[in-house]
Amino acid sequence: MPPTVYAPKGKVEPFLDHAITRHYLSAAGVPDQGGKIIAEYVWIGGSGADLRSKSRTLAKIPTKPEDLPTWNYDGSSTGQAPGEDSEVYLVPRSIFKDPFRGGDNILVLCDAYEPPRVNPDGTVTDIVPIPTNTRAAAAAVMEKAAAEEPWFGIEQEYTLLNALTKWPLGWPDNGYPAPQGPYYCSAGAGCAIGRDIADVHYKMCLFAGVNISGVNAEVMPAQWEYQVGPCVGIDGGDHMWISRYIMYRVAEIFNVDVSFDPKPIPGDWNGAGGHCNYSNNATRAAGTGWDAIQEQIAKLEKRHAVHIASYGEGNERRLTGKHETSSMESFSWGVANRGCSIRVGRMVPVEKSGYYEDRRPASNLDPYVVTKLLVETTLLL
Ligand code: ADP
Ligand code: MN
Ligand code: MN
Ligand code: MN
Ligand code: MN
Repeated sequence: MPPTVYAPKGKVEPFLDHAITRHYLSAAGVPDQGGKIIAEYVWIGGSGADLRSKSRTLAKIPTKPEDLPTWNYDGSSTGQAPGEDSEVYLVPRSIFKDPFRGGDNILVLCDAYEPPRVNPDGTVTDIVPIPTNTRAAAAAVMEKAAAEEPWFGIEQEYTLLNALTKWPLGWPDNGYPAPQGPYYCSAGAGCAIGRDIADVHYKMCLFAGVNISGVNAEVMPAQWEYQVGPCVGIDGGDHMWISRYIMYRVAEIFNVDVSFDPKPIPGDWNGAGGHCNYSNNATRAAGTGWDAIQEQIAKLEKRHAVHIASYGEGNERRLTGKHETSSMESFSWGVANRGCSIRVGRMVPVEKSGYYEDRRPASNLDPYVVTKLLVETTLLL
């Protein structure tokens, strides 16, 4: 197959012919890697939302993050350190299989620290999380609440944009598609726009070892959702962040932009959420779980403002009380009610146990921040 020539026509146009790349990455192209593996170290950049990565060769396959070398990067290039003292220290935290390179190659999710320093007396300082490292605090809270076994299932909504025009994929140039109605969970041209990306991402997450639980087309055309969970403790955040990295990489292959903005198109178009489904030993306990859920919801009501302030940048554009959201001004909950802050499933009062859904987080939620707050408010205060 000859390479495609890049032509900026405002359409979905690959820069390169990825079929050729796939060939050379496969066993048929380059049969082996000389016994070495490639580790792609992934971390969160200076905006707290961008994902960065770089790769290195390893001589053997690690079985746990502690087997992997710590590393560093230039924090002045990610908005995370001044130029004159720019080294940021990377600590491997979670290993996934690399669905892009395949084989034994891996993705390594890391968090970032100020490097250790030598004191005048020769002792070495502890590493300190840099300000954008939200994982360290979340991991500490998950550790404290480990006996309660918190589970998280996060619904990640996102919008596909034409990379050149920044307008939703498949929408008419300078115009709008037919109003919402036919798109949610749809099939068919002009309805399920960008399914290739949602589906390739789904399979790649399964290969990687991400606990992805499903995918659906959303209410706004070119908007999709996948769910990650249930994951225990800090895995909730780790699996969500690596799933986003995989999403950026898949969309890169198609030369499509992915937006996690909570309200990408103003007006009568649904925003994008990051509902967090949550349970713990108390809520899952047979017979008494429903009472525990009501107690936990009462605690969440008291800290509504604290949660809202940490549930995603620009969430006020989304939480209007319209388009299947609750107003951010007030706390509400209900059974099977999608217009509430917290929704309890229809079967919970029947089965007297289960989980509940915090519908307030936006699509650009930091899952470390949200899962930490849920555990803190419901189990530790
Ligand atoms: P919705 O009906 O709101 O669209 P989804 O089916 O999209 O819900 O997502 C539900 C999520 O909740 C899934 O990720 C699922 O794995 C997760 N989940 C299921 N059971 C539990 C539980 N007991 N605790 C936490 N999360 C759970
Ligand atoms: Mn260099
Ligand atoms: Mn859902
Ligand atoms: Mn949804
Ligand atoms: Mn939901």
